Amino acid sequence: MKIEIEDRSGFCFGVENAITMAEESLKTDEKIYCLGHIVHNELEVKRLESLGLRTIDYNEFGTLKNCKVLIRAHGEPPETYHIARENNIEIVEATCPIVKRLQQSVKSESDKAVANNSQLVLYGKEGHAEIRGLLGQVNNNAILVNNHQDIAKIDFNRAVTIFSQTTRSRKNYNEIISIIRERFTMNGHDPDKMVKVYNSICSQVANREPQLVKFANKHDAIIFVSGKESSNGRMLFNVCKSINDSSFFISDISEIDPACLKGKESIGICGATSTPKWLISDIYSKLSEMIS
Ligand code: SF4
Repeated sequence: MKIEIEDRSGFCFGVENAITMAEESLKTDEKIYCLGHIVHNELEVKRLESLGLRTIDYNEFGTLKNCKVLIRAHGEPPETYHIARENNIEIVEATCPIVKRLQQSVKSESDKAVANNSQLVLYGKEGHAEIRGLLGQVNNNAILVNNHQDIAKIDFNRAVTIFSQTTRSRKNYNEIISIIRERFTMNGHDPDKMVKVYNSICSQVANREPQLVKFANKHDAIIFVSGKESSNGRMLFNVCKSINDSSFFISDISEIDPACLKGKESIGICGATSTPKWLISDIYSKLSEMIS
């Protein structure tokens, strides 16, 4: 049996950068806190916590003073920086530059939307850290669309500007845009005039979709490694599953059922942009032992 690791698997540069910043900060004696899990991967979080990183939630953040807190790649709303200033908290700024730029664009388009009586639409998952950060830029004054049903929240007599969460599927985003354009047409408006779209899906995620289609086609079975909380992990796994029905989502080697791999000649291992390379290599070694 042949096993291959997909060569693009591993962290995107935004997550890589946040983890490097955490590791650098942990070299000093100072205590360092991270607001929320630094990455949607339980094992990587545990590894960094074993080096001293303390993960905190918003309640605990509100009680801290005179310390250092890392802001992860997903970014934060302005309120977080405000609390930090009030409590003399030093921020270790690890917001991904792509997310930072998106926050600025969302803010600037929101100001225009208020002036023009148009609507700002965010395509993303409610409660996701990046979405909370984006909504915070505009005082929650945006329509959040997570699925086709949510499109009904839009007023089709007022223009819209649409952004996507960076980690969403390009195909699904395009579908949502098409439906919105159709509804404007049905209401007697020209969608070219009424719909302004920002292609805000990160290329680090979008480019993975066609790569994974090829990879999933090439193998008899796919082991997709990702944390269960990872949004792009679920989305990229679904890409593999749509191509290769023998695709299995795992977070840890113990979740592999060897019976599922019976009779498979070639197995591909790949992961999300939040899956560490060391974990993928570890799964490779353990899987090789398991089937030898
Ligand atoms: S997926 Fe893209 S936008 Fe998100 S953290 Fe990674 S590099 Fe940044």
